[in-house]
Amino acid sequence: MHGAIRLGRILGVPIGVNYTWFIALWVLAWSLAAAYYPARFPGFPASTYWTMGLASTILLFASVIIHELGHAVAARRYGIRTRSIILFLFGGVAQIARDPPTPRAELVVAAAGPLTSLALGGLFAITHPLAAGSALGAIIAYLAWVNAGLAGFNLIPGFPLDGGRMLRALIWRATGSLERATLIASRTGQVVAMLLIAAGVIRAFTGSGIGGLWLILLGWFMDTGAQGSYQQALLREALGKVRVGDIMTREVHTIDPGLTLDQAVADYFLPHKHGGFPVVWGDRLLGVITLHDVRDVPRERRATATVRDAMTPLSRLRTVRPSASAYDAFVRMAQDGIGRLLVTDPDGSLIGILTRSDLLHMMRMRVELEETSAERTAATSARRPP
Ligand SMILES: [Zn+2]
Repeated sequence: MHGAIRLGRILGVPIGVNYTWFIALWVLAWSLAAAYYPARFPGFPASTYWTMGLASTILLFASVIIHELGHAVAARRYGIRTRSIILFLFGGVAQIARDPPTPRAELVVAAAGPLTSLALGGLFAITHPLAAGSALGAIIAYLAWVNAGLAGFNLIPGFPLDGGRMLRALIWRATGSLERATLIASRTGQVVAMLLIAAGVIRAFTGSGIGGLWLILLGWFMDTGAQGSYQQALLREALGKVRVGDIMTREVHTIDPGLTLDQAVADYFLPHKHGGFPVVWGDRLLGVITLHDVRDVPRERRATATVRDAMTPLSRLRTVRPSASAYDAFVRMAQDGIGRLLVTDPDGSLIGILTRSDLLHMMRMRVELEETSAERTAATSARRPP
């Protein structure tokens, strides 16, 4: 949970809030207490409006968490874990550990959120008559509408909204290609984002400054998400069929565990300019030593402390098999924020190293090769007689 404050767990899923959520909390509570409730339900004292505003905002975010838990419970049915549910400025996100395996699973997981919100909205609508006319009744009516709105907004068919995921699942089923489905769904997501931004600009110029700004920010956020998944689909297409073993660096400078840190710096870090070296004894990989590990040892101890003392042991390292796909390796590097993965055989011996620059090099090669063959096709078709 990067940049999030942890609140606790519900159904085994860690729940957290991003700091931007506090902005949403106050803006929403304030606009409900100062504008919405006094206009719709006049006659209560100001303190009551503030209680109503705060209570509705908290219950609104509880509704968002329940929506995300809908996704999480559906994902669990397909054996997919939900890493966390995070509330932020625009609502919530359930971070599920991987993409659903089939179009059907994707459809069910995506639809589960809006369906949960619809059910919750229905529940509030049914209980509303019991408290009609009171402050509690006003809150219940608000929550009924807001849950219906949550379902409706999320059903808009633009990625990364739930409706966009459902669209992606349907195209995926029709074409059999997850990549193409993702490309189309993220393109529609970008169109929806542009429409939101346009609507926001119009609203801002016709008097509703805050509402307009909100829509612009929401559109911008959606556009970023859609572009991200578009690029991810391109990457998956480029890297998905390549094996780690085909692009890894086989020539690896390894280092002896018995060397002192001063020797390691003089003989390895200075001449080879790498940031880290695998520590190998005989055939066995023991760990990795980086410049960072060396720096953690006080200078006066570096003449006696050995590489083995300072290294990061194998048990704390991420390794990858040569048969893994380059895309999986890329995702792992990105998730852990690391620049290299050690490639090991099933028996644990080191056979190579995969770095971010290996991946970039392969991508660049593919792009250049495709451009040349596209140019050649264009040239041949131009030469063809009419
Ligand atoms: Zn959702």
